[in-house]
Amino acid sequence: MLTPGVTIGILGGGQLGRMTALAAARLGYRTHVFATEPDSPAAQVCADATVAAYDDRAALRQFAEAVDVATFEFENIPADAVREVAALKPVMPRPEILEISQDRLREKEFLNRIGVATTTYREIADAPALATALANLAAIPGGSAVLKSARMGYDGKGQVMVSATSDPGEAWLQMGGPRGVLERFIDFQCEASVIVARGGDGAMAIYPPVENRHVNHILDTTIAPASLPPETARTAEAIACGIATRLDLVGVLAVEMFVTKDGALLVNELAPRPHNSGHWTIDACATSQFEQLVRAICGLPLGSTERHADAVMKNLIGDEIETWRDAIGDPTARLHLYGKRIVRAGRKMGHVTRLTPRSS
Ligand code: AMP
Repeated sequence: MLTPGVTIGILGGGQLGRMTALAAARLGYRTHVFATEPDSPAAQVCADATVAAYDDRAALRQFAEAVDVATFEFENIPADAVREVAALKPVMPRPEILEISQDRLREKEFLNRIGVATTTYREIADAPALATALANLAAIPGGSAVLKSARMGYDGKGQVMVSATSDPGEAWLQMGGPRGVLERFIDFQCEASVIVARGGDGAMAIYPPVENRHVNHILDTTIAPASLPPETARTAEAIACGIATRLDLVGVLAVEMFVTKDGALLVNELAPRPHNSGHWTIDACATSQFEQLVRAICGLPLGSTERHADAVMKNLIGDEIETWRDAIGDPTARLHLYGKRIVRAGRKMGHVTRLTPRSS
């Protein structure tokens, strides 16, 4: 067990690292962030920070020497950087899990191999292959699909909606990656996610499924809990626990799913780290997803996921940051700002969680 007082290293300097560092500090742990930019949201609240590129091996080694355990807060940290740290200190979740989640094809192959349903998909190697796949789409009535970059996509980056009439060359360029995944477009009932924490002893703590509403492919609002039929909610939880176990995860895993019109669950994405759809747990649960991560990687017992309120979490994206003045005066609102100085369209600047008494 790593007891309070030791140093947790966090690869990545974003808001997830920031909120993990705040949870760690509450339990008496020190944190050291490795980020590529100075004054990152995480570095503002960490005891120590390294500012260097992810391919700076000397800086990664120095970082590893300075910490007792390390984790990551962002999927797109290069796997080599994580391995460099893992050669010197334990990294949790283990780097192999990060590598699965970094590549949509590997992720879907893994899920299908363990019997978890995903959208129907196929690998697309280049624009001519896309042309053939789009011609096949014409055979499906109303057939539309989403072309996604296999790697480095998040918040809708590297994604293009396509149909049989799309120009394959243009769609390929717009997607912008060296390899693509073409997925059947799902006219879903809603999107849900489940967050599960798992300790080194295999114990798990799970939060109820939540409903996620996206705007322009970016998470806008999370409603906790999701209003799913109890059986669907239990199935969603079982899927998440099964994946965490098969990954031999130590840490926190978010499983994003589509709930189809006939109530089936298709897993869309895995994130082996705290997730935007779990921010509500800070204000509405006995233990937040961030504290669970700290507990899991330090070998502490996981905390209770008891929910003491229902919650709606609204991201403050781009200019929406200006609404912080309304939130600060609202007694039902809990305001979280990430300390980002530059406002950009589509940039997550903060979030507000509004609490209401538990309905069930
Ligand atoms: P992703 O980066 O895969 O999480 O996609 C971001 C968002 O785009 C999802 O949360 C959905 O709202 C939407 N989306 C992605 N893939 C599909 C799909 N196959 N069918 C319908 N909507 C999708």
